[in-house]
Amino acid sequence: MTARLIDGLALSREIRAGLGARAEALAARGRRPGLAVILVGENPASAVYVRNKVKACAEHGLHSVLEKYQSTLTEAELLARIKALNADAAIHGILVQMPLPPHIAPAKVIAAIATAKDVDGYSVLSAGELTSGLPGLRPCTPLGCMKLIESTGAALRGKHAVVIGRSNTVGKPMALLLLQSDATVTVCHSRTPDLGLHTRMADVVVAAVGRRHTLRADMVKPGAVVIDVGMNRNDEGKLCGDVDFDAVREALGATGWITPVPGGVGPMTITMLLANTVDAAEAAEAAEAANA
Ligand code: NAP
Repeated sequence: MTARLIDGLALSREIRAGLGARAEALAARGRRPGLAVILVGENPASAVYVRNKVKACAEHGLHSVLEKYQSTLTEAELLARIKALNADAAIHGILVQMPLPPHIAPAKVIAAIATAKDVDGYSVLSAGELTSGLPGLRPCTPLGCMKLIESTGAALRGKHAVVIGRSNTVGKPMALLLLQSDATVTVCHSRTPDLGLHTRMADVVVAAVGRRHTLRADMVKPGAVVIDVGMNRNDEGKLCGDVDFDAVREALGATGWITPVPGGVGPMTITMLLANTVDAAEAAEAAEAANA
């Protein structure tokens, strides 16, 4: 018997239906959630990502603005646009699509986004809120992974979770979210000498590496939950994750769980962007009421 699939598409649909209802309720009170997406330059992959984000907003009752700029846009011009969006009451979330052209410093741009509108959760202040356990907007991909784990019904308290990867956008926030759920967390990276030593002991493994077949069948414990964040191409050019999917699914056995690629983490990332935008709109409404 092979491990059960965690269906990210089905979970996304379910969560998005709830978000759509919350967006309509906000709209009825004159506060439709609004997301501004900024794209600088002509990176074709980025163009697809932003199109999908804007489309998802339209499908679920969120207002969205897509601002496209030539790669000649200056850093000062971009910072001025962010400043204007920070002050725009119709916008509750601001997302600047990465990568930016080399003459624009991403850290400066992310720092310019008001923390209350940082729906990517990438700013130093948002990271500080997460590290300190304060309320705030969390990075979308790790947040989506948490929802996928929760959907299995597996309680994280006291469990051993291993995160492979330590990027600021996925690995580190993932580890912090797992820690906040009372898991015992190990973070592995490219300098970890024996990855399998750690993953074989794990009840939950989150692979966020960007290298296919990083997690193999001899590296997992039967019954574990495996979340595959990786987005790679196999020899045939097909999308695949970091996990040797078929072999690991078999090794996990009937009591295990695994996310497919595609159809696992991917759809959840955009869903969490919508969730953060709706959360931000509700928080703005509550803050306004408190100040009235
Ligand atoms: P990243 O910034 O390149 O980080 C990769 C991490 O993997 C680094 O911490 C690196 O270690 C570690 N690593 C590299 N080789 C390793 C190895 N052999 N063993 C153990 N660890 C190793 O990438 P990222 O932005 O976190 O993204 C990771 C993957 O997730 C990529 O495939 C990306 O496309 C995908 N992704 C998917 C979504 C989605 O929505 N599905 C969203 C975001 C990212 P060092 O720190 O030591 O270099």
